[in-house]
Amino acid sequence: MLIVMKADALPSDIEKVLEVIDSLGFRGHALPGETRTAIGVTGNPGSIDPAHFENLPGVADAIRVTKPYKLISKDLRPEKSVVKVGNATIGGPELAIIAGPCAIENEKQVFTAAQAVADSGARFFRGGAFKPRTSPYAFQGLGIDGLKMLAEVRDQYGLNIVTEAMDEHGVAAVEKYGDCIQIGARNMQNFSLLRYIGQTRKPILLKRGLSATLDELMLAAEYIMAEGNYDVILCERGIRTFANHARNTMDLSIVPAIHRATHLPVIVDPSHGTGHNYMVTPLARAGVAVGADGIIIEVHPCPEEALCDGAQALTPGQYIELVEQVRKIHEVLTVDVLSTMTT
Ligand code: PEP
Ligand code: MN
Repeated sequence: MLIVMKADALPSDIEKVLEVIDSLGFRGHALPGETRTAIGVTGNPGSIDPAHFENLPGVADAIRVTKPYKLISKDLRPEKSVVKVGNATIGGPELAIIAGPCAIENEKQVFTAAQAVADSGARFFRGGAFKPRTSPYAFQGLGIDGLKMLAEVRDQYGLNIVTEAMDEHGVAAVEKYGDCIQIGARNMQNFSLLRYIGQTRKPILLKRGLSATLDELMLAAEYIMAEGNYDVILCERGIRTFANHARNTMDLSIVPAIHRATHLPVIVDPSHGTGHNYMVTPLARAGVAVGADGIIIEVHPCPEEALCDGAQALTPGQYIELVEQVRKIHEVLTVDVLSTMTT
């Protein structure tokens, strides 16, 4: 059920609707929009009689929702969501640029990368302290020591920190030191973890699973939002296909498909999406051209020495050039062009 409030509904009207939802044993999610607030209802096993709501003060309409997703849907929030991450935003008019090494390795590596990211004018720094590695013998990340270095980067450069958590213990640590919790491709359908992060109040960067469909990605976001955390950013990071010229196949068609289906912002990751240094910049340009709200890029001061994902890391110089190029592309995508492209 979706309850659309009138434009002039009072906060007390919204409270009343939430109370009625609560008294029925369900959960209400009030999402304020530009022109009106809509309230999504979750936790109901079957359909709810609209009569519970239609005559309450401030209610414009009570609509049954037949789609499997409710809170991520544009029916609930027709305008795009802008997600606040630290002191910056993702999904607004500015192209979000998140960059940094795959893994935090040492102070010198982190600070050299952070200098380049700050110089580029990006607002977000990435770096894994908890790394999901295919082999148990590969470098697993520095853990809390890595997070402390990330917190130093934030203090020194004012960059907002995006970093992965793989379990509940990691979530608590990232909540303490970071600004945005990344959920990696391998955990996109770890439903208990999704529920857990849904109870935090940190924004979530949710990466598409290795072979996840659009619906599966959206329902993973729905898991997080159903727990009350509405600050979710989606990320296309390439999927497994038969193609073997790249590490993954970056599925750019999902960007307009996401914009059509949901109000959530979406960014692209051409580093994991391709796995090859020489492909990262062209695919970053393509991702921005297709309407992504941002990019996430791996940068390493010395890619050949990287402990993780060196083949796809850009040098600081290559990264600075990438940013100049994608900014130019983003500039030509005026609001008018974008709106015709995504509808
Ligand atoms: C990463 O961002 O370093 C990472 C491990 O990404 P993914 O989960 O997309 O593989
Ligand atoms: Mn990586």
